[in-house]
Amino acid sequence: MAHRYDDSNIFARILRGEIPNRTVHESEHSLAFEDIQPQAPVHVLVIPKGAYVGLDHFLAAASEAEQLDFNRTVAEVIRLKDLGDGFRAISNARAHGLQEVPHYHLHILGGRSLGRMLAEG
Ligand code: 5GP
Repeated sequence: MAHRYDDSNIFARILRGEIPNRTVHESEHSLAFEDIQPQAPVHVLVIPKGAYVGLDHFLAAASEAEQLDFNRTVAEVIRLKDLGDGFRAISNARAHGLQEVPHYHLHILGGRSLGRMLAEG
């Protein structure tokens, strides 16, 4: 499917430095920062710096260097946030996933038991 990227989204603005963020880790191709409305004691968003709408777009179009860098950033967040007792990694995509921000991001949640994976309905 075609993935059309809209660079007015809020994470594109964060990447351009137009709005602030609380950075957890930054690398050549990726940025990890605190979610503004945390759903758990640890709630970090990991995003690629490239213009990818969602997970499937990123997997199809990002270079191997970008994908490796992204995965290493996720690992670094897990290490920095001391998530040895566990965590959940979530990527919401498009309408059925209720994705709000159309720039690929992985939620890393932890710091407490997170309950069941999906709420009913
Ligand atoms: P989605 O529903 O697209 O998977 O999640 C978007 C996430 O981005 C939400 O958890 C929301 O709290 C977070 N978010 C939205 N706007 C901002 C912002 O301006 N700064 C930060 N740090 N997080 C944001």
